Amino acid sequence: MNHPAAPASIMRAALPAGLLDALQRLYGERLSVAEAVRAHHGRDESAFVPHLPDAVVFAEQTSEVSETLRLCNQYQIPVIPFGVGSSLEGHILALHGGVSIDLSRMNRILSIDPEDLIATVEPGVTRKQLNEALRDTGLFFPIDPGADASLGGMCATRASGTNAVRYGSMRENVLGLKVVLADGRVIPTGTRARKSSAGYDLTRLFVGSEGTLGVITEATVRLHPQPEAVSAASCSFPSMVDAVKAVIQTIQLGVPIARVEFVDALAVRSLNRHSHLNLKEAPQLFFEFHGTPSGVEEQVQTVAQIAADHHGESFEWASRPEDRSRLWTARHNAYFAMLQLKPGCRAITTDVCVPISRLAECIAGTEHDLASSPLPCPIVGHVGDGNFHVAILVDPAKPEEYEEAERLNHLIVRRALALGGTCTGEHGVGLHKIGFMREEHGEDALDVMRAIKHALDPANLLNPGKMFSLQRETS
Ligand SMILES: Cc1cc2nc3c(=O)[nH]c(=O)nc-3n(C[C@H](O)[C@H](O)[C@H](O)COP(=O)(O)OP(=O)(O)OC[C@H]3O[C@@H](n4cnc5c(N)ncnc54)[C@H](O)[C@@H]3O)c2cc1C
Repeated sequence: MNHPAAPASIMRAALPAGLLDALQRLYGERLSVAEAVRAHHGRDESAFVPHLPDAVVFAEQTSEVSETLRLCNQYQIPVIPFGVGSSLEGHILALHGGVSIDLSRMNRILSIDPEDLIATVEPGVTRKQLNEALRDTGLFFPIDPGADASLGGMCATRASGTNAVRYGSMRENVLGLKVVLADGRVIPTGTRARKSSAGYDLTRLFVGSEGTLGVITEATVRLHPQPEAVSAASCSFPSMVDAVKAVIQTIQLGVPIARVEFVDALAVRSLNRHSHLNLKEAPQLFFEFHGTPSGVEEQVQTVAQIAADHHGESFEWASRPEDRSRLWTARHNAYFAMLQLKPGCRAITTDVCVPISRLAECIAGTEHDLASSPLPCPIVGHVGDGNFHVAILVDPAKPEEYEEAERLNHLIVRRALALGGTCTGEHGVGLHKIGFMREEHGEDALDVMRAIKHALDPANLLNPGKMFSLQRETS
């Protein structure tokens, strides 16, 4: 069954024999045209119907990526970069076929420099792999999307996660990249310096470019000292708005909270079932505090008072490391827990982000919209950033449920845009948010994006059909 927003299947010829031969010589057994391998690379975690690439290559070095792009440019064949395929908005579907370039085997950590608090990695290194390597250094890499995503994919989607409220997103944590351009040229962007005023910021251009401007083959990222003291807690509230108002006040008072996550009552039920927790089935906030022991104590007291002022019930402390880990593992598994609320379902996720002062209004309006829907719609969110997700659970065999999900998605996004927010705080545009790009940015700003795309990828070979329409809308 087609997701209603999925483009119809596009007819195309298979890869030219000359290209296939050249790739075979370059990759040997690391080239695959097997149906199962192509199927794995033609879908992500979204509800979109898969679109398979014609071939998959498993690159192991930058020179192979460069030669692949040069060849595909010569034969005018699309290339879709692939990390681990955990994106949520149809990012890696091969709409026009072509070659999926899997970067997961480029997974070497090239350097860790504790004195400069930076690491340089290949794109297939995952966030957990990097943190495992950092374990004895006293440092950590904070960006933590729920999936164990690749650093290349996280750069390409400008990912964030639960820690972003304190440590920033990939936008703030990438210092420099190595990028292969559509014609095969390899360029560095940025330096190892913390800041620079030297020219256009190409690093920030490629961070968030979703594989449409180049293939990232190295990233230099910022590391952070592991906090001396860590404390975590959960707290239930009588309403979503009470919980959100407590968060808004916490942020506005400048409490340097490390994590503050919202989980609505339905999502709490799913976590209790999936992760064997015993949380009250009411709107909850999960908190984490980092700092010196006295600093943490001070933050805790301030936040506990704010929560009480907003009718928060008693804090449940997770002070032992294993209890903290249980709470945050449950939060990271929330997506899969929520899917189990409706066996066999798929989730259509929304990802809006608004200025913190408008968050209560946005969540209250969203709650009102969802109340009348027949679909289960649990809500979780990185609310310290003004970012929340609704997982709209649909039966893949019922087109009317997809329609209802898209109706809700439009209401939620339009409200966020009207409140000065964005259609996607962290998941990216992929296919699903293309329809909102004009409303969010305006046609003139989209023209600038088109000019950049044309300058770097004139034949539109890099992940074509994603992010925005190449045609200007006139009405
Ligand atoms: C359970 C779950 C929870 C999630 N939670 C979060 C969250 O909290 N925050 C968040 O931000 N995201 C979240 N995500 C989404 C996802 O994990 C992120 O978008 C992640 O950054 C994607 O990384 P990936 O390696 O899976 O990339 P892929 O899905 O393989 O690719 C994503 C995009 O990046 C491009 N790309 C991949 N590698 C490269 C490269 N080396 N060079 C250029 N382009 C490349 C691809 O072409 C594609 O457009 C979640 C996903 C799941 C399934």
